[in-house]
Amino acid sequence: MEFGRFFLPGPTEVRPEVLQAMVRPVIGHRGEDMERLLSGMDPALRRLFRTERPVYVSTSSATGFMEAAITNLSRRRILCLVGGAFGARFRNIADRCGRPADTLAVEWGTAHSPELLSRALDSSPGTYDLVTVVHSETSTGVLNPVADLAAVVRDRDDLLLAVDGVTSVGGTPAEFDGWELDFLLTGSQKALALPPGLALAAASERALRRAEEIPARSYYFDLLEFERRAREFQTTNTPAVNLFYALAEQLGRIAEEGLEERWRRHRELAERTWAWVGELTERTGHDFSVLAPEGYRSPTVTAISLPAGLSGPDVVAAARKVGFTLASGYGKLKPTTIRIGHMGDHTMPELEAVLSVLDDVIDDRIGGLP
Ligand SMILES: *Cc1c(COP(=O)(O)O)cnc(C)c1O
Repeated sequence: MEFGRFFLPGPTEVRPEVLQAMVRPVIGHRGEDMERLLSGMDPALRRLFRTERPVYVSTSSATGFMEAAITNLSRRRILCLVGGAFGARFRNIADRCGRPADTLAVEWGTAHSPELLSRALDSSPGTYDLVTVVHSETSTGVLNPVADLAAVVRDRDDLLLAVDGVTSVGGTPAEFDGWELDFLLTGSQKALALPPGLALAAASERALRRAEEIPARSYYFDLLEFERRAREFQTTNTPAVNLFYALAEQLGRIAEEGLEERWRRHRELAERTWAWVGELTERTGHDFSVLAPEGYRSPTVTAISLPAGLSGPDVVAAARKVGFTLASGYGKLKPTTIRIGHMGDHTMPELEAVLSVLDDVIDDRIGGLP
């Protein structure tokens, strides 16, 4: 298949060179070859997370490290910020792992406000020891103001912040040290444009001290074990080593492009998508809109609300027929929205191609609208 036709907001399209890098012999993970592979990636991983802390790589999907945040970082009560499906996932994990939690909800498609968080924390001082938030909420296309939310958390004693950066890290600024985060995680198959199967995360010294207080913090997802192993350029258990080859290759490609340049490319793809939504509305006289409000839009994924009479799954199926893959809305937004994942290694010509296909698909249906 030709590259540039796969626009799911995860998994994302993987460049052939990156796939090809996986076709190398399996090596023993306690040997020197593995140590060399991990120590070679270490500086690039720290640059990616904008941190001086080590970056852990787990053979699991990103949800594994979401679970690690829940089981390693709270010994009292968790406040989960929820404005979409992935925010809700943190809360569900807490429930299933038996960790007391409350939800601070905003409407799907809106962002969390530092003021609201501040008020929630002040109205029950000392109740919470962990706040969870999703940076780029992939179900709605909202980019949450994590720097400001982190400042609210840093103002309080004994409170940690865990951030799901699955569709932000590598696609938009996510500053682990600069924003003083305690835990930041991502997965291989989103903005990093790698095959699925790896999760990456950084943890603060504060977070590790907290984990030390929690005896039942999980075996596979024990952050202290990740820290200990990372310091020796080792993995906790048998890693999916061929995926690590792909990661090493992609880190090289990201360095070649430049991380900031990569952020800029994502920003341009997003801005083009938002502008296209405006043009579509003007041209058709029907109301298409970007779900996320201006100022809080993710550079990696856009959810587009369709006018009455157009169905998300129908538009997605029609695009599929001519060879382009995008996503309908997530969960309760499924019937009324579509989502374009303009993240990873996509470029402007590829985006223009999918938008032009959508123009045709929508024009075909517009006559029948009320
Ligand atoms: C995709 C996604 C996840 C889940 O990742 P898995 O790798 O499927 O576990 C979590 N959070 C966000 C924001 C996502 O986009």
